[in-house]
Amino acid sequence: MKTAKNLLARAREMRSFGPPTVGYNGRVTQFAQECESNLEWQEVEVRSSTDPKKTYSVSIPPWEGTEDITCDCPSWTYRGYCRHTREAMRKICNWTSNDPVPQSEEQRRNHVCPRCGRNTVLVEE
Ligand SMILES: [Zn+2]
Ligand SMILES: [Zn+2]
Repeated sequence: MKTAKNLLARAREMRSFGPPTVGYNGRVTQFAQECESNLEWQEVEVRSSTDPKKTYSVSIPPWEGTEDITCDCPSWTYRGYCRHTREAMRKICNWTSNDPVPQSEEQRRNHVCPRCGRNTVLVEE
Protein backbone atom coordinates (compact mmCIF):
# COMPACT_ATOMS: atom_id res chain seq x y z
CA MET A 1 0.00 0.00 0.00
CA LYS A 2 1.11 3.51 -0.82
CA THR A 3 1.22 5.67 2.29
CA ALA A 4 2.52 9.14 3.01
CA LYS A 5 5.11 7.61 5.30
CA ASN A 6 6.75 5.35 2.74
CA LEU A 7 6.62 8.14 0.12
CA LEU A 8 8.58 10.35 2.50
CA ALA A 9 11.03 7.56 3.24
CA ARG A 10 11.50 7.07 -0.50
CA ALA A 11 12.04 10.82 -0.96
CA ARG A 12 14.67 10.91 1.76
CA GLU A 13 16.44 7.96 0.22
CA MET A 14 16.43 9.66 -3.21
CA ARG A 15 17.83 12.87 -1.77
CA SER A 16 21.07 11.12 -0.84
CA PHE A 17 21.83 10.25 -4.48
CA GLY A 18 23.18 12.66 -7.08
CA PRO A 19 21.72 12.79 -10.60
CA PRO A 20 22.42 10.93 -12.86
CA THR A 21 24.24 7.90 -11.54
CA VAL A 22 25.84 5.08 -13.49
CA GLY A 23 25.54 1.61 -11.96
CA TYR A 24 28.37 -0.94 -12.01
CA ASN A 25 26.61 -2.63 -14.95
CA GLY A 26 26.67 0.60 -16.98
CA ARG A 27 22.98 1.30 -16.47
CA VAL A 28 22.31 5.04 -16.18
CA THR A 29 19.68 6.07 -13.67
CA GLN A 30 18.11 9.39 -14.51
CA PHE A 31 16.61 11.51 -11.76
CA ALA A 32 13.82 14.00 -12.15
CA GLN A 33 12.70 16.55 -9.57
CA GLU A 34 9.33 17.23 -8.06
CA CYS A 35 8.00 19.76 -5.59
CA GLU A 36 8.22 18.52 -2.00
CA SER A 37 4.63 19.69 -1.43
CA ASN A 38 3.60 16.64 -3.50
CA LEU A 39 4.85 14.39 -0.69
CA GLU A 40 2.67 15.58 2.16
CA TRP A 41 -1.00 16.07 3.01
CA GLN A 42 -2.15 19.53 1.96
CA GLU A 43 -4.98 21.54 3.50
CA VAL A 44 -6.53 23.99 1.05
CA GLU A 45 -9.09 26.65 2.02
CA VAL A 46 -11.85 27.10 -0.56
CA ARG A 47 -14.50 29.82 -0.31
CA SER A 48 -18.16 28.82 -0.26
CA SER A 49 -20.06 29.93 -3.39
CA THR A 50 -23.27 30.53 -1.45
CA ASP A 51 -21.78 32.31 1.58
CA PRO A 52 -18.66 34.39 0.81
CA LYS A 53 -17.85 34.66 4.52
CA LYS A 54 -17.52 30.90 4.80
CA THR A 55 -14.53 28.80 3.75
CA TYR A 56 -14.22 25.04 3.65
CA SER A 57 -11.10 23.00 4.18
CA VAL A 58 -10.12 20.39 1.57
CA SER A 59 -7.50 17.74 2.46
CA ILE A 60 -5.42 16.42 -0.44
CA PRO A 61 -3.32 13.26 0.07
CA PRO A 62 0.31 12.97 -1.16
CA TRP A 63 -0.49 10.13 -3.55
CA GLU A 64 -2.14 10.22 -6.95
CA GLY A 65 -5.84 9.71 -7.48
CA THR A 66 -8.77 11.61 -6.03
CA GLU A 67 -10.55 8.96 -3.94
CA ASP A 68 -8.91 9.97 -0.64
CA ILE A 69 -9.60 13.71 -0.95
CA THR A 70 -12.01 15.05 1.66
CA CYS A 71 -13.80 18.34 2.26
CA ASP A 72 -15.48 19.52 5.45
CA CYS A 73 -18.50 21.11 3.73
CA PRO A 74 -22.07 19.77 4.18
CA SER A 75 -22.28 18.60 0.57
CA TRP A 76 -19.23 16.36 1.00
CA THR A 77 -20.34 15.17 4.42
CA TYR A 78 -23.85 14.14 3.33
CA ARG A 79 -23.53 13.42 -0.39
CA GLY A 80 -19.84 12.57 -0.84
CA TYR A 81 -19.10 15.11 -3.52
CA CYS A 82 -18.70 18.88 -3.93
CA ARG A 83 -17.05 21.39 -6.25
CA HIS A 84 -14.46 22.48 -3.62
CA THR A 85 -12.21 19.45 -4.13
CA ARG A 86 -11.70 20.27 -7.82
CA GLU A 87 -11.00 23.92 -7.02
CA ALA A 88 -8.50 22.86 -4.33
CA MET A 89 -6.68 20.62 -6.82
CA ARG A 90 -6.17 23.64 -9.05
CA LYS A 91 -4.69 25.65 -6.17
CA ILE A 92 -1.94 23.28 -5.10
CA CYS A 93 1.51 23.40 -6.69
CA ASN A 94 1.90 19.78 -7.84
CA TRP A 95 5.02 20.65 -9.88
CA THR A 96 7.24 17.94 -11.42
CA SER A 97 10.04 18.00 -14.03
CA ASN A 98 7.42 17.05 -16.65
CA ASP A 99 5.47 20.22 -15.92
CA PRO A 100 5.34 22.90 -18.66
CA VAL A 101 6.79 25.41 -16.15
CA PRO A 102 10.58 25.00 -16.57
CA GLN A 103 13.26 25.23 -13.91
CA SER A 104 16.13 27.65 -14.44
CA GLU A 105 19.67 26.23 -14.29
CA GLU A 106 20.04 27.72 -10.82
CA GLN A 107 16.73 26.28 -9.59
CA ARG A 108 17.72 22.88 -10.93
CA ARG A 109 21.07 23.04 -9.15
CA ASN A 110 19.60 24.28 -5.89
CA HIS A 111 16.52 22.03 -6.04
CA VAL A 112 13.98 24.85 -5.99
CA CYS A 113 10.41 24.50 -7.29
CA PRO A 114 9.85 27.09 -10.06
CA ARG A 115 6.14 27.39 -9.26
CA CYS A 116 5.98 27.84 -5.50
CA GLY A 117 9.62 28.35 -4.43
CA ARG A 118 9.74 25.39 -2.06
CA ASN A 119 12.40 22.68 -2.20
CA THR A 120 12.21 19.84 -4.67
CA VAL A 121 13.10 16.20 -4.13
CA LEU A 122 14.79 13.83 -6.55
CA VAL A 123 12.71 11.02 -7.97
CA GLU A 124 13.83 8.22 -10.25
CA GLU A 125 12.49 8.64 -13.81
ZN1 LIG B 1 -16.78 20.84 -0.27
ZN1 LIG C 1 6.05 23.71 -5.74
